[in-house]
Amino acid sequence: MARPYPVPNATIPFWRTELHELDSHRSTAELPEKQDIVIIGAGFAGAALAHYLLKDNPSKPSITILEAREACSGATGRNGGQLRPDLFVGVAERMQARGLETANQVAQFEAANAEAVAALIESEGVACDLRAVTTADAFDDPGDAARMRKLWDTMTAALDCPSLRAVSFHGEPADAERVSGVRGAKVAFTYPAHLLWPYKLVMHLLEGAVRRGVNLQTHTLVHEVSETPDVEGYWEVATSRGAVRGRKVLFATNAYTAGLLPEYDDAIYAARGTVARVVPSSTSSSLSSTSTSSRQTPPQPTLGSCGMPDSYYGARGDADGSLIVGGGGSSYARDRGQWYRNFDDATLIEPAVPYFSGWAGRTLVGWEDGEGGQEKAGRVERVWTGIRGYSADSVPHVGPVPSKPGLYVCAGFHGHGMPNVLLCARGLAAMVRDGDGCAFADTGIPACYETGAARLRKIAEGKAAKAAARARADIYLKY
Ligand SMILES: Cc1cc2nc3c(=O)[nH]c(=O)nc-3n(C[C@H](O)[C@H](O)[C@H](O)COP(=O)(O)OP(=O)(O)OC[C@H]3O[C@@H](n4cnc5c(N)ncnc54)[C@H](O)[C@@H]3O)c2cc1C
Repeated sequence: MARPYPVPNATIPFWRTELHELDSHRSTAELPEKQDIVIIGAGFAGAALAHYLLKDNPSKPSITILEAREACSGATGRNGGQLRPDLFVGVAERMQARGLETANQVAQFEAANAEAVAALIESEGVACDLRAVTTADAFDDPGDAARMRKLWDTMTAALDCPSLRAVSFHGEPADAERVSGVRGAKVAFTYPAHLLWPYKLVMHLLEGAVRRGVNLQTHTLVHEVSETPDVEGYWEVATSRGAVRGRKVLFATNAYTAGLLPEYDDAIYAARGTVARVVPSSTSSSLSSTSTSSRQTPPQPTLGSCGMPDSYYGARGDADGSLIVGGGGSSYARDRGQWYRNFDDATLIEPAVPYFSGWAGRTLVGWEDGEGGQEKAGRVERVWTGIRGYSADSVPHVGPVPSKPGLYVCAGFHGHGMPNVLLCARGLAAMVRDGDGCAFADTGIPACYETGAARLRKIAEGKAAKAAARARADIYLKY
């Protein structure tokens, strides 16, 4: 199989339609010969690592960021723009898989992350369309709804789940549909969240890092990192433009991590996904029933954002009235080659494209009868793909790479990086800065995010056991 590297000529997401002057920046014509720290990847994780490595640091290390394509051209530049801590559904799932304490730890970390991102944007005045919204998880399938109701009842009656204090349950179908604005919703859970323009946030962080002396090198693919450090203690990072040596090397490479660290091949794998931008027509019924003026403005959904089993949206509101809609996995899930370990964000997931046309009419109350029927209730302005770094055990890998002192990883955000990356990067930066002075346990990052040999071994063993079971089932079916 080809090594998992970013591919050229990626599809163009809405977020990359207003490019920053550093988008294809190279601070120097040649790569530096050696650096204190080399960061691979200029997405949210790479930019946030650089930010915290330099923040309030009187002894600034030399840092180079190497990025295969343009800055912020990976998952962060092509996601759904949702900064949405998972305060109930994820807690319930994690509680069943890992126990209550871990589920609570992760939920509170995500909530703290979301607050930290919003606070950073506000304190630094980052113009990235930050919007505080009420979000919902809405379920229209009666079986799903019954399961969610039962979980809610159990968790609120008998368990201590602090994150649930921010969640409201709407358990009557009429109420769930009215509150969420999702057609046919049987139950809904609402809670606070944010939307933002992720590219603009990352470029702000990169601009600050470059201003403080970081050497940013875009269009520089790393194809190998040495297996061991050299006699001086530097790791050699081989790129498409020559080598640079780093005393410490940080892998902010998310879905592509195993391309450079094969020991992560089972642990972090690519999952291609689709996002679309839907522009409302000014003729859907929600508008015609409420408009008093002859000049029509676009309709807006009931909530700022919402997640459903097969899709989610974020409404850009006053920014431009459009909806950023992600999902559509049901249209291609069985065709694993379309998404599983697929790194090709230069092409669309073809079966997913028709899913978005008519999505608004099918999904949102009041959007069903735009002129020309459902297809016209929301016009699909663009569709793009992006590569998520799924984690085999569903949580990120943060910390020192096992058996390779000086290498660190911050990756595998499982399609849910916006309420996770910032504080993971802050914690890892503290470890990198302070060396033995800062242990993982001191960083505030949930213990289950810590990468390590035992965790990688467990994942590999789980995968091998599954493969063996599948082979046994095949033999049984054959004979
Ligand atoms: C379609 C889609 C929708 C999503 N929606 C949401 C959402 O709404 N909310 C949410 O919280 N999360 C969402 N996510 C997930 C979120 O975008 C990620 O978790 C987050 O952006 C991860 O940030 P990162 O910096 O780790 O990865 P990335 O942004 O992917 O950055 C990694 C960078 O490393 C570079 N790189 C990799 N390998 C190499 C190499 N060998 N040499 C040089 N450079 C290299 C890549 O080019 C890339 O720029 C979505 C993701 C996708 C793909």
